[in-house]
Amino acid sequence: MPNVLVLPGDGIGQEITPEAVKVLEAVLKGRSGSFAFQYGLIGGAAIDEAGKALPDATLAAAHDADAILMGSVGGPKWDTLPAPERPELGGLLKIRKALSLYANIRPVKMSPMLVDASTLRPEVVKDVDLVVLRELTGGLYFGEKGRKTNPPSAFDILDYSEVEIRRIVKMGFQMAEKRRGKLCSVDKANVLESSRFWREITVEIAKDFPDVELTHMYVDNAAMQLVRWPSQFDVIVTENMFGDILTDLASMLIGSIGMVPSASLNGTKGLYEPAHGSAPDIAGKNIANPLATILSGALMLRYSFNLEEEAQRIERAVEAVLADGYRTADLAKSGDKVLGTREMGNAVVEALSRI
Ligand code: NAD
Repeated sequence: MPNVLVLPGDGIGQEITPEAVKVLEAVLKGRSGSFAFQYGLIGGAAIDEAGKALPDATLAAAHDADAILMGSVGGPKWDTLPAPERPELGGLLKIRKALSLYANIRPVKMSPMLVDASTLRPEVVKDVDLVVLRELTGGLYFGEKGRKTNPPSAFDILDYSEVEIRRIVKMGFQMAEKRRGKLCSVDKANVLESSRFWREITVEIAKDFPDVELTHMYVDNAAMQLVRWPSQFDVIVTENMFGDILTDLASMLIGSIGMVPSASLNGTKGLYEPAHGSAPDIAGKNIANPLATILSGALMLRYSFNLEEEAQRIERAVEAVLADGYRTADLAKSGDKVLGTREMGNAVVEALSRI
């Protein structure tokens, strides 16, 4: 029986993860060999109960699980702790690293119902349907770093091995093959040696994917193109730091951070979480938008369990609820029917029953 570890974490994580579980249970109802959901502690909640942000029991359960569904971590209560002990570094980054989750996937798809929520003009964003695939465990963020004296200076080394590049780029081609067949590899090959190496390997891998159209784009141009003509992109694959910046930029094309799901994969296991944080300012009020977490559940079914039909049913149910005019407060305009967190989860479950 597939085993999913649920880690609600802190702040609104406690409110949005139960809604995602509720929707997953509804879509999986009646399936033979259905899913087992187990719960664990992470982040500030784990510090309070077990003394550290990633307790050994949570890490062991994560290794055992087939997939992990996470809420979010962090909050002012733990901000005064030394950085390595805080929920973000000691919990989230630690679990990502411990599980070698090297691929971060952020699909950014405009809902026709939310075109007006974007800060960009409707004609620019209405057809946005792209995925940013970001390398998550290599490059500048994990390279050697340090300080020098005389004269004082600091350095971070951008180092990528062939293996690291191959596995993420290959995943990009495989993803493009299943979508619209277009892969854009983003680099800075006019300046960086690591990018030239990345490009060489990408061109070589392309020979195994004759049906995928490969393009290369410098990262500065990619940032510009994402706001100028975002619908030109299908799958973007890029290294860690470029991906960090471009994923946030791409997320905002569709209006609210409360709508953006994410998946972090290592080839066999996945961790699924919303792109946003624990939103302490609205925690405990039943007003947080649970849709990014519910859509992260859909990604889990797609990437960890190959249940494409069920994944699409969740995505269609979310669309149906939005089409009915229901919104959480972060998306609401005058005239919309405003729902709380639980009520939005219920509405998605109800929509599933008619899809
Ligand atoms: P945040 O994403 O939590 O919140 C930013 C703003 O967006 C807030 O106004 C918040 O109310 C709103 N918002 C976020 N998610 C929402 C949702 N689902 N529905 C409605 N509104 C939503 O970012 P922040 O305020 O910079 O960080 C708060 C805490 O979260 C910090 O402790 C930070 O370190 C942590 N954080 C955690 C993660 C994670 O767990 N992956 C990611 C980012 C930040």
